[in-house]
Amino acid sequence: MSSTFLNTPIEYLKNVGPQKAEVLKKELHIFRYSDLLTFYPFRYVDRTKFYKIKDINEDLPYVQLRGRIVNTKTIGTKRSQRFVATFADETGKLELVWFQGAKWIAEKIKPHFSHEFIVFGKPTIFGGHFNISHPEIEPVSEENTTLASALQAVYNSTEKLKTKGLDTRGIARLQKTVCSLIRNNIPETLSKTILERFHLLSREEALKQIHFPQNQEMLKKAEFRLKFEELFFIQLKLLKQKNTREKTNKGFVFSIVGDYFNNFYSSYLPFELTNAQKRVIKEIRLDMGSGKQMNRLLQGDVGSGKTMVALMSILIALDNGFQACLMAPTEILAHQHFETIADLLKPLHITIGLLTGSTKAKERRQIHEQLQNGEMQILIGTHALLEDVVQFKNIGLVVIDEQHRFGVAQRAKMWDKNTQSPHMLIMSATPIPRTLAMTLYGDLDVSIIDELPPGRKAIQTVHRFDSHRDRVFGFMREQIAAGRQIYVVYPLIKESEKMDYKDLMDGYESISRAFPLPQYNVSIVHGQMKSDAKEYEMQRFVRGETNIMVATTVIEVGVNVSNASVMVIESAERFGLSQLHQLRGRVGRGAEQSYCILMTSYKLGSEGRLRMETMCRTNDGFEIADVDLKLRGPGDMSGTMQSGVLDLNIADLAKDSQILHSARNIAIEILTEDPNLEKIENANIAYQFALSNTDKTNWSRIS
Ligand code: ADP
Ligand code: MG
Repeated sequence: MSSTFLNTPIEYLKNVGPQKAEVLKKELHIFRYSDLLTFYPFRYVDRTKFYKIKDINEDLPYVQLRGRIVNTKTIGTKRSQRFVATFADETGKLELVWFQGAKWIAEKIKPHFSHEFIVFGKPTIFGGHFNISHPEIEPVSEENTTLASALQAVYNSTEKLKTKGLDTRGIARLQKTVCSLIRNNIPETLSKTILERFHLLSREEALKQIHFPQNQEMLKKAEFRLKFEELFFIQLKLLKQKNTREKTNKGFVFSIVGDYFNNFYSSYLPFELTNAQKRVIKEIRLDMGSGKQMNRLLQGDVGSGKTMVALMSILIALDNGFQACLMAPTEILAHQHFETIADLLKPLHITIGLLTGSTKAKERRQIHEQLQNGEMQILIGTHALLEDVVQFKNIGLVVIDEQHRFGVAQRAKMWDKNTQSPHMLIMSATPIPRTLAMTLYGDLDVSIIDELPPGRKAIQTVHRFDSHRDRVFGFMREQIAAGRQIYVVYPLIKESEKMDYKDLMDGYESISRAFPLPQYNVSIVHGQMKSDAKEYEMQRFVRGETNIMVATTVIEVGVNVSNASVMVIESAERFGLSQLHQLRGRVGRGAEQSYCILMTSYKLGSEGRLRMETMCRTNDGFEIADVDLKLRGPGDMSGTMQSGVLDLNIADLAKDSQILHSARNIAIEILTEDPNLEKIENANIAYQFALSNTDKTNWSRIS
């Protein structure tokens, strides 16, 4: 299964000298034939299609024309010469312009004057007329009319590549050369079973077709095959990591469900659990009793009741003589968790601590001590928990809320808080599209809470323009009169931005004027406030002492005030979809009908409009996440770029979810039957797998 051909250094290719090789390596990381062959076109032009000059418009990326040269001239001084040819078909004329190589092109054209030419290039307007600079031009011949029946690949290039003649055409020429050398020398990477089951082209055929497609259909097939392969090996890797981790990472065995859990469940649970909550708690309990370390992602839309699941899981840890901690991304959220949980557990006499960046030194020392001697059973806090000084006597479970705010490295840090890694429960309300979750967290077990607690009314969302603010204020007054509370949120993308800050303060002022004391109370919370001042204002709102909370996105995650029924989002077009959805999730937590009002100016781009429409149309976090993925692409979605698994070469997570599902399922099937890829029929896969995993990063321990 030698692949000497693919491994051939790029400088051995005909017409690639040391200079070209150098820039190919630097600019495109093309070192070997295989790198060149997997440098795929980013689009194709249809060379079967000819335009008439009269139909040309500036939006066309490329046009192909057929006509005659009716005139040529050389313009300019010797130092900056231009060669201009007037080109005509039966519908009109345009100019072809060359800024370099005037002489050469003149000579190329001259002998064929009065001949018919094929011209190919990008039309631009210059001085009111269309022209094409540096077009491809060739006299019509039998050869190029047959060649013109193919789809032509277009490659990305860079300035540096272009100076070495490697524009898209130059790269295509190299591809032509390398493809002409292909002759049963590209090893297959997939098994016969997979090829047959999914009707895939061989790797060799796919690589040839992706650069020089015979027709649309073959192009589709080639793309499908290469995308499938790419996604398959990513999934295989994730799944293998998971298998390895499960084999090697033993977990504390939580064998019993004891008094803490049972007492709480039978006497102090404030509501009946939803079926989804029950199911998920059961999944977690099984995990923690299995002897393997749990690594579970708990996904549930905002308000689905993840906190209770976390709490019940923590009680199981305590029942088995272990400590547990809950880490949240913001201080406000940590506070809120602390208060909710301390309150719920009051009758059980459990020692709970809160540790954040603003915990005073003395208190901090006491917490450290109590953690080490085992007195403190539950610790709730922020990133402060990650610090090395935070050591437990015997931690058995780590819960991380709103995981997308934490990176892989931070999660990994929690693994080392005990001699054997504690169980990990990772919670997320950001509904990541399933395709993305499968790729980013493909090696985690996933539980989904797909049911909201009963009695919730769907939030009504509307989009209003700034000019209708008076009407919105009127609506707010009605709601306040009915006893409700209101959030008004301003975008403060960076807490330090002066402009944003001014918007917020102006907004606060105008709201204070429209809702004056003593009839109304308005509070404000933003990131530049001291944390106890923030906390004070939050608490006033929680206790119902203020009617309106003017805030920045500091309230985005987790905050829970069930009497708040209106969320007004200012400059809503400046928020991403998932952020809008998170913000909206702050209301609709009680039994009252809740509302979300998206305020924007009339000026709204098409993407902004789509975001508003999506929000008004649906409350389904997963649907919103899918639209978000399509709008933004996966690169921007997950915040912390996790492990480079998203550097896809050809597949597109926004479009290829079907392929991803098939690839993942077959990978699962194969690993179930042949966990170490030892069977003969999987030899290709095993070989390629070993090859593609020679890089050093070992993500299998952390996930
Ligand atoms: P999230 O999943 O967004 O973290 P929370 O855990 O904050 O949601 O729960 C949202 C609200 O729903 C809280 O007020 C919580 O007490 C309440 N809640 C959770 N589970 C239930 C349930 N089974 N029945 C009724 N209310 C519930
Ligand atoms: Mg929450």
